[in-house]
Amino acid sequence: MSTRRNFLRSAAALVAGRPLLDSILSEPPRKPLGFALVGLGSLSTNQIAPALQKTTNCRLAGIVTGSPSKAERWRVRYAIPDRSIYDYDNMESMADNPDIDVVYVVTPNSLHADSTIKAARAGKHVLCEKPMEISVERCEAMIAAAKKAGKQLAIGYRCQFEPHHLECMRLSREQEFGGITRIEGGFGFTIGDPTQWRLNRALSGGGPLMDVGIYAIQSARMLTGREPTSVTARTTLTDPVKFRDVEESMTFELNFPGDIVAKLSTTYKGNINRFTAFAERGSFGMGPAYSYDGNRAFRSDGKPLRYDEIDVFAAEMDDFARCITTGKSSKVSGEEGLKDMKIISALYEAARTGKAVRV
Ligand code: NAD
Repeated sequence: MSTRRNFLRSAAALVAGRPLLDSILSEPPRKPLGFALVGLGSLSTNQIAPALQKTTNCRLAGIVTGSPSKAERWRVRYAIPDRSIYDYDNMESMADNPDIDVVYVVTPNSLHADSTIKAARAGKHVLCEKPMEISVERCEAMIAAAKKAGKQLAIGYRCQFEPHHLECMRLSREQEFGGITRIEGGFGFTIGDPTQWRLNRALSGGGPLMDVGIYAIQSARMLTGREPTSVTARTTLTDPVKFRDVEESMTFELNFPGDIVAKLSTTYKGNINRFTAFAERGSFGMGPAYSYDGNRAFRSDGKPLRYDEIDVFAAEMDDFARCITTGKSSKVSGEEGLKDMKIISALYEAARTGKAVRV
């Protein structure tokens, strides 16, 4: 920490923007917050644990897993003390563990509420992966549990920390191309293993809409800065065996106030990974838009829109730690997750009934 402060101090002498650096330097150095990861699957292993090593305000302090062999591997690899290794049934005893400040829930979707509520009861802040849960009621229960504990709850909407996404939001907010009139886009990929939990409704709550379509919903909400008032949706199915439990693909529309329409799609059969915002005097967007790295942004006037890559998971966790230590509420709060879940519920109803549904 002191090396970083020294570096910032010399940087302060060199660059403009001195007021910002002065305000950073005037903050007392803080101990990084201890994060415990719940669910040591693909995302925890390949993205979140490595990202934690790059954070400034966080450290990997504990794990919650149902697998003794994984617990052992992680204990050795990340030097996690035995007292900070939990399983799903005893995680509430974290209440006695001052090393853990934040619980990061990275389990299948329908298990998010259970771990979030246990963590809140143990007096911990919670960062929960997207989608927040699988129903509006469960999202509300999670918010209530965090509120009761007086702890923060945030959702892992990593794109809200990615510089190209942030620049697209700025272009929209400052109307550099005039007001937005229409958005098009979507996120989908070809899913493999037919036995995975993503294809099991009890664990996933739904198909690609819950899993990745939610990114397109987020983009539309963030770019318009508004909430949709009604939605329409249509599902398509070509493989009724693989997709017997969840939708295979969905095309959908979100209707925003001001006659702005977002025409979006999501699928587990084929790749789509982009969005375009059409405005009065031009357009801008991203493609690929939602990958972990290698995303690209464009503007119709040809001006460059290019930032260095960052680790978005590190940025997301550092931001949450900053919110906790400063008492500021997170821009990706549980309430944000709930808003998306209300839209997702309306979309499933619209697909089922074939009618427009009010959100
Ligand atoms: P995964 O299947 O790789 O890992 C899930 C983990 O949960 C595994 O360790 C598994 O053992 C554990 N688990 C506990 N109880 C389980 C049960 N009953 N059934 C199955 N697994 C159980 O999944 P993942 O890809 O790591 O996704 C985890 C969460 O992270 C999901 O909510 C997903 O939507 C989210 N996610 C977010 C991003 C992102 O970019 N923000 C990317 C991938 C996944």
